[in-house]
Formats: sequence, structure tokens, C-alpha cells
Amino acid sequence: MKKHNFSSGPAILPLSVMQEAAEAVIDFNGMGLSILEISHRSKEFVTVMDEAQALTKELLGLSDDFSVLFLTGGASSQFYMTAMNLLDSTETAAIIDTGNWSAKTIKENRLFGNITIVASSKADDYKHIPKTFELPNNAKYLHITTNNTVMGTQFQEIPTVDIPLVADMSSDIFSRKIEVEKYGLIYAGAQKNMGPAGTTMVIIRKDMLGTIERQIPTMLDYRTHVNKGSMFNTPPVFPVYVSMLTLRWLKANGGIEAMEKINIAKAELLYNEIDNNPNFEGRVAKADRSLMNVTFMAKTPEAEAKFFKLCEENLISGIKGYRTIGGFRASIYNAMPMSSVEHLVSVMKMV
Ligand code: PMP
Repeated sequence: MKKHNFSSGPAILPLSVMQEAAEAVIDFNGMGLSILEISHRSKEFVTVMDEAQALTKELLGLSDDFSVLFLTGGASSQFYMTAMNLLDSTETAAIIDTGNWSAKTIKENRLFGNITIVASSKADDYKHIPKTFELPNNAKYLHITTNNTVMGTQFQEIPTVDIPLVADMSSDIFSRKIEVEKYGLIYAGAQKNMGPAGTTMVIIRKDMLGTIERQIPTMLDYRTHVNKGSMFNTPPVFPVYVSMLTLRWLKANGGIEAMEKINIAKAELLYNEIDNNPNFEGRVAKADRSLMNVTFMAKTPEAEAKFFKLCEENLISGIKGYRTIGGFRASIYNAMPMSSVEHLVSVMKMV
């Protein structure tokens, strides 16, 4: 029996995508070969990579000023690759600290230049998104984590500044419209809203590159991958393939605009239950609630134990909050159907 998968990542994928991927593991496109055993230089895979990049651009409305890369090393490698490629040792980057992932960005960015934390919600256990801040003079970019997977907060309004944004969109890419012109670089691990673990999407405005003096190892230099269409070395073939299938699915289902509407409706249904059910309460400031990762707490230990048990009995998986936070977290990414959110709400009512 298929469970309702509320895991934060690796996370739910559309069933049709997994079925097609499963077939391709045995026989890809009628080639008589598995997607796992074909050359990344074969025309069949080159077509997959091209389509994945083209769909990304089409769905997000990116011009040819941007390159789309599928790298390895996780979003965690982007915490340092961004600064390594974009920030000289005498230059300054601004960062808004909204949670554990931003804190890691700060630590890694610091290895390469000056970092100014322009705002932080740490004192508030990261329960809100800071709205006001001042940029230091000559800051090269402003780094934000658009959605805080662990805390359950999300920038509902992306800051407007006169420098490029560098954004970790690991847990909300493709979930809502973006104002492309604000961004110099976007990165996102695939394993939430796009595909299986194993690849990280990096979208980079090409004029961001080549502005620093530092020598960069070949594999860590974005220009290597931009110049070779993300095919400098063997790319993560299967994760790219499955990501491409998910992007096809997204397009066939109305694209980002349609998805955003459904995501808002799903989140509203769930937050409404959290606010009205006497056994639960939300964890973060209402104005900054994430549409992707819904964090909430039980009001009593009895209600918590009962709800966990009910979840298990009712095929609800991945609902436990992050280990340092406790409580519950329901991740309701694009592939999560409304019917599963309705099911979760009906189980909350049983507590
Ligand atoms: N940033 C955010 C917002 C995340 O949720 C995560 C966790 N997947 C990461 C970065 C780290 O990603 P990875 O495990 O791919 O390094």
C-alpha cells in the first residue's frame, strides 16, 4: 500500500514520473539499454540534458543570459562554491540568516571573503523572516535562503535590492513564480521539488562570472560547466533524467502558475486545521509560514503520542519534525496531491 509521503527530502515524486523512470531503468526509449548503462555522451542522454535545461528556462522564464547546470556535491557544496566563484577575498557579501542552512552558508562563504550578516532571526529561534536590513557599502551580492526547510518559514516577499541575489531555493524551487531579474545565482538540491538526490541545480547569470582574481580548481569553477553545457565530466545521469521527467510533468500540469495556486490551497487547508484544532499549534510567525514545509506542535505530550500513532495507522509517513526542533513537519511539495493533505487533516481531527 503506497503511503502518503510528507518527508522533507528526499521527498515525494509524481507517481507517473517514477513509473516512467522505473521502465527506463530496464529499457530507455526502446534502446534495449538501461538509462543506467548508456553513455552520457550518447545522443539519447544529450537530448535529456538539453531538455532538462530548456524546461528549466521555460518554466522559470529565464533568458539566455542564464545557464542551467546540474552539478553534484549537494546544495551544501554551493554554500562554498558561490563565494569561491563570486567573491574576492577583499570583497563583501551580505547574508540574511534565517535558519540552520543560512548559518552553514555564512560559515562557508566566510572562507572566501568578508561576510556581513545584515539581519538574523536567530534570537527568535528562527521563527520569522527578518524584513528590514541595511546593506553594507559595495556588497557584491545578498544571499538568502528562500525557504527554510527545517524551520518552516519562507520569504513571502523576496527583497528588492540593487545588487544580485544569490539564493538557496532547495526546498521551494518550481513551487511559485520568481522575479528572475532579481537573481544572479540560484541553487537547489534536486531531492525536494525536482527529482531524486544526486544532483544540484545551479542557475547562473553568466555576467556574474569572471569578476574575481582567485584561482579555482577546474571542477569547482562554474565556468567549466557553463562552457561545456554541464557536460564537462560525467553528469549524474539518472537524477538529471528523473528531474527532466518531473519538469515535463510540471509543464503538462499547467506550469508554475498552476502549481503555485494548488500549493497555496494545500497550505491553507493544513494551516487552517492547525489554527483551529485545539490539539495543535503552529510553530512560526503566520506571515512567514512556508507553503512547502508546514511545521507545527502538539499542545500536550498525549496529543503528540496519539497523533504519531494515528499517522502510522493511517499510512502517513515522514511527519516527524527535524531532530533539533521536535513536533511535526509536513512537507507538501509540488507532487503532494491535495487528497493527501485532506487525508492528513482528517487524521488530525481524530486526535
Ligand atoms: N539548503 C536547504 C534549504 C536544504 O533544505 C538542504 C537540505 N536538503 C540543504 C541546503 C542541503 O542540501 P544537500 O543535502 O543537498 O547538501
